[in-house]
Amino acid sequence: MNVFTSKTELTKFLEQERIKDKNIGFVPTMGALHQGHLSLIQESRKRTNLTVCSIYVNPTQFNVKSDLENYPRNTEKDIELLVSENCDVCFLPNTNDVYPNGVSKLLEINLSGLDKRMEGERRSGHFDGVVTVVNNLFEIINPDIAFFGEKDFQQLAVIRKMTQVLNMNVEIVGCPIIREPDGLAMSSRNERLTRHERLAATFIYNTLLATKNLNGSIQEKKDFVIKQFENHALFKLDYFDITSEKNLTACIEEPSKLTRAFIAAFIGKVRLIDNIALNN
Ligand code: AMP
Repeated sequence: MNVFTSKTELTKFLEQERIKDKNIGFVPTMGALHQGHLSLIQESRKRTNLTVCSIYVNPTQFNVKSDLENYPRNTEKDIELLVSENCDVCFLPNTNDVYPNGVSKLLEINLSGLDKRMEGERRSGHFDGVVTVVNNLFEIINPDIAFFGEKDFQQLAVIRKMTQVLNMNVEIVGCPIIREPDGLAMSSRNERLTRHERLAATFIYNTLLATKNLNGSIQEKKDFVIKQFENHALFKLDYFDITSEKNLTACIEEPSKLTRAFIAAFIGKVRLIDNIALNN
């Protein structure tokens, strides 16, 4: 695997590969890699013939300083995992390369409100940071296909919209959520849970499953989840929402189209998110 820390070196390398008619798959990550990330690498390796994985903890998408400071970092282990997956390129950029105009210059695009609800409402400026970093990394790598996890379903929708609005020539592929054996969605943030919290954390997925199986109206499902969290000693609910999959608008009545349930919750100092499709 080739490891690049410089944009210039990476660009030179990719230019050479493109001459050989390689199509390029891209998996942007913030590191502390786990099987969820690696499933995106595997999908990229199936669909393309050169996979680039970037590891960059993007400062502009964190609205809480301590969350950025405490974000787990383990580049050596990440590189080992990427080698074991036969990833072709690991890109470890510095902030000057990712933000040539400085971190305060963020993209402003109309995302038709996709960025305003749920995560966007709770984490002010979060999606401005996400679209800017992904756009800037796309400019450097110029991928044919980019892979994102449904774990961050709203982010996936926002990125799809960004590529439409900016008329970008890149295919966006969404990949299913990879879970621990007890159902907890894999996440770099899980590393920050204490043993006790980790054992309790399966509650999020169990609540989503129970909601899916509950035979009731949207309001009854919402009331059920709120009650579950009120009765929980460790978790504090940030939001629970049921929306259409396509435009992430709230569903008020019985859904006829594809819908998803979304949870964000705090356990101790850690904020976890998860979601589930309700109609299949
Ligand atoms: P992150 O490093 O958290 O920014 O995530 C990088 C990419 O991996 C994003 O597209 C995430 O949605 C995806 N991802 C993270 N966790 C999972 C998971 N458990 N299953 C599938 N994809 C994931």
